[in-house]
Amino acid sequence: MKFIQAKHIISHYSNGQHWFGWNYNMNIYKGCCHGCIYCDSRSECYQVYDFEQVRAKENALGIIDNDLKSKRKKGIVGTGAMSDPYNPFEKEYQLTRGALKLVLKYQYGVGILTKSDLVLRDIDLFKAIKKQKEAMVNFTITTFDDSLCKIIEPNVSLTSERFKAIKILADNQIFTGVLIWPILPFINDHEDNIRNIIKEAKRNGASFVIPYFGVTLRQNQRDYFFNQLDKKFPGLKDRYIHVFGNQYECLSPNHKRLYNVFEEECRHLNLVYKMTDIIDKLKSTRGMKQLSLFDR
Ligand code: SF4
Repeated sequence: MKFIQAKHIISHYSNGQHWFGWNYNMNIYKGCCHGCIYCDSRSECYQVYDFEQVRAKENALGIIDNDLKSKRKKGIVGTGAMSDPYNPFEKEYQLTRGALKLVLKYQYGVGILTKSDLVLRDIDLFKAIKKQKEAMVNFTITTFDDSLCKIIEPNVSLTSERFKAIKILADNQIFTGVLIWPILPFINDHEDNIRNIIKEAKRNGASFVIPYFGVTLRQNQRDYFFNQLDKKFPGLKDRYIHVFGNQYECLSPNHKRLYNVFEEECRHLNLVYKMTDIIDKLKSTRGMKQLSLFDR
């Protein structure tokens, strides 16, 4: 793995109202080798060239230590929006694990977004963080079907493995949920897929699900996606071009129906699915802190 220079790794503070209550963003790695055909982080506007080559920030843990020490406000440090923090290199380099130890040391909360069950290695740290602040682990799950998963997300834990990981986390009282996105028009945008993901999420102990019934396409990321369609779904590129042209937002033609199905299942199974409710539910898990104070 290559290393690159960075001055800071933890972002400026934000109020966290829009994205799972996370106040800070952290990207230890640059690029991702998980190969999801729809990945938005490939877009030119982010300037991550050679996207599939994972690079780590040199002296990442020293920089994170300084960043966390110097912040005025505590909050939730989220990671996983631009690059999966549990890529295969993490097994050896343990930079995400090192960052979690610092999050614990400086009494922040943590939010993870991943598609890898390597995250289970760090349950001990999530449990420790949860005693003082919030700890949440989110999985993206786009298809219930492992064979389709292997085609559209080729280098990462299968859907069934992600569900098993959710169960283990939930059994350990870690707040966990499922991001059902992107839903790719004409590929995984069917009712059964949505119903099955929600049911399996509930069965395995997820606390929430949240959807987006479409995919965004732009710049070189669109080119990459179309190239993958040519290889893996011959003929489908032309349908995308016909229906969406150069649009950035490509909603499934079924999106209204799918949302109704989604909402009906969530209500039926009593699963939280709106961002504000998810944030409220996450904050309520901080009760562990009070219990531990009374226990002393
Ligand atoms: S795991 Fe996330 S960052 Fe990595 S390729 Fe897939 S969508 Fe992109």
